[in-house]
Amino acid sequence: MYKYLLTPKSLSAVRSSSLGLLRFRSKFAGSKLWNCSFPARTLIQTLCLHTETEENRHISQSPSHTDRAMKYVLVTGGVVSGLGKGVTASSIGVVLKACGLRVTSIKIDPYLNTDAGTMSPFEHGEVFVLDDGGEVDLDLGNYERFLDVTLTRDNNITTGKIFQSVIEKERRGDYLGKTVQVVPHITDAIKNWIESVAVIPVDGQEGPADVCVIELGGTVGDIESMPFIEALRQLSFSVGHDNFCLVHVSLIPVLGVVGEQKTKPTQHSVRELRALGLTAHLLACRSAQPLLENTKEKLSQFCHVPAANILNIHDVPNIWHVPLLLRNQNAHHAVLKQLNLLSIATPPDLQDWTKMAETFDNLTNSVRIAMVGKYVGLTDSYLSVVKALLHACIACSLKPSIDWIAASDLEDDSAKLTPEAHAAAWETLRNAACVLVPGGFGDRGVRGMILAAKYARENNIPYLGICLGMQISVIEFARSVLGIERANSEEFDAQTSDHVVIFMPEGSTTHMGSTMRLGSRKTLLQTPDCITAKLYGNPQYVDERHRHRYEVNPQVIGALEEKGLKFVGKDETGNRMEILELPSHPFYVGVQFHPEFKSRPRRPSPLFLGFILAATGKLEAYLNIHQNGV
Ligand code: GLN
Repeated sequence: MYKYLLTPKSLSAVRSSSLGLLRFRSKFAGSKLWNCSFPARTLIQTLCLHTETEENRHISQSPSHTDRAMKYVLVTGGVVSGLGKGVTASSIGVVLKACGLRVTSIKIDPYLNTDAGTMSPFEHGEVFVLDDGGEVDLDLGNYERFLDVTLTRDNNITTGKIFQSVIEKERRGDYLGKTVQVVPHITDAIKNWIESVAVIPVDGQEGPADVCVIELGGTVGDIESMPFIEALRQLSFSVGHDNFCLVHVSLIPVLGVVGEQKTKPTQHSVRELRALGLTAHLLACRSAQPLLENTKEKLSQFCHVPAANILNIHDVPNIWHVPLLLRNQNAHHAVLKQLNLLSIATPPDLQDWTKMAETFDNLTNSVRIAMVGKYVGLTDSYLSVVKALLHACIACSLKPSIDWIAASDLEDDSAKLTPEAHAAAWETLRNAACVLVPGGFGDRGVRGMILAAKYARENNIPYLGICLGMQISVIEFARSVLGIERANSEEFDAQTSDHVVIFMPEGSTTHMGSTMRLGSRKTLLQTPDCITAKLYGNPQYVDERHRHRYEVNPQVIGALEEKGLKFVGKDETGNRMEILELPSHPFYVGVQFHPEFKSRPRRPSPLFLGFILAATGKLEAYLNIHQNGV
């Protein structure tokens, strides 16, 4: 008997194999092969045998799951975008997890981009980076934080990825002279993708999860999402009705003086969903105020959804209340009933969540953090940084008070052109307890960031520079301390002969998509006697996610170190600078990686924690107690 052990890599190899479309079920990883043609079966068996290594042994099927099919919860949205579908979907995941189930998630983005990597944070919010280097939608960050899982790039499906895989197959000749069409080829590719990704374990345990929450981006009726809707309709049919639960998120607006809660837009979007062959089992209604009983009755009557399945997500003080709100309305019961899981689920245990949500509500003291960046107009552009600050502040019983400063307002030019903005920006910076320069691309605002780094360095104000923020501190130090006036990054000034930050030799100069240094990589600590080693409680290494094209020029390291800027973390080759510290400063840390992506609600990123502790004068005491993890 074969053992079917698949890594994400082997799954995608099979998915794009020349042997035609394969169908994977959770059962596939058990003792049976499902729906596979003979050559495909042979390929899988070969693959499986060849991929059974120590490394992937952990993903063998857990016996408890082999006899149970994957359960899907699909979350769609209607009426308007921006309803918080992502938070709703991840909160459903949290409640199901609290019932003792293992949960994974898939986010579908119907846009044509292959991934979020080439999209502007101004327009789409932050690009989230995964361990495997996937550049994905920020909702995957919400899933990782809420469910405490580690997702793969394949957990984010886009139209671009699906079309690319189908067109690649067409070019290889896999479709054997057939006309390649949206139905069935694109829809089959979507279904296969979902079914194969759903079984990848993401919580560090063995075997597939019990439930896969799928969030369909956009609004029902969008042209782009049509192939996905059709594929999901087919999926709901093929997996069977007790393996599929559809939660439709909608808006209940209140109009005019009368203040009546309007159900018509929801009725229309549920009808639209039905016209496309999908039936909503639950409604999650967004509203400012709690829904009135007669609004619920109306919705139930006209939307064909039992009153018990009409959930209301009204405005709450912070998003951690959303899972609690769902639990209080017995959302778990409705979902578990639809999925026929009532017999194996436990009552939801959300004690930790309740504590976290309430602690946050009751915090009174705050700490002022100056965020000096380029994309300050849209706070979603730095979502994970904001969350990481929140996690760290809560651990210190503080409320974060983030002062957004547009870096360009700090620049000398702004003093002439927009003197008020310039004065306000400097005043804000001076009133902050600490300064953070987050990641970014392009030269806008760079001069302002350099001024902020200089201010923090010279005035002993805690400074955390992330990725671009680290490169900024190198440029600033080279200019101010080494006296290299024209020191710059190759990214901002290609002409200067004083490049202290250079383009990484292995980067691509022709392609922008997915060509950066991406994902989790080890940084070796050069000395246990540095703030970073003490904060991580690990004198050897740290493992964080990256996303950059440029690096500190190895040729200037000697000169920088001689003047006191220490590179306490380097990559495994020793040539790439990863962490810098200024030992003469209370907290001056620059990191080439992005520690914000791995921060979790009850497990704040060590560097963010150190940064907040330093801002409140408590770092030294903390390090004395926690040195090297003790
Ligand atoms: N633009 C810089 C680089 O590519 C920094 C990137 C970032 O901050 N994510 O290296």
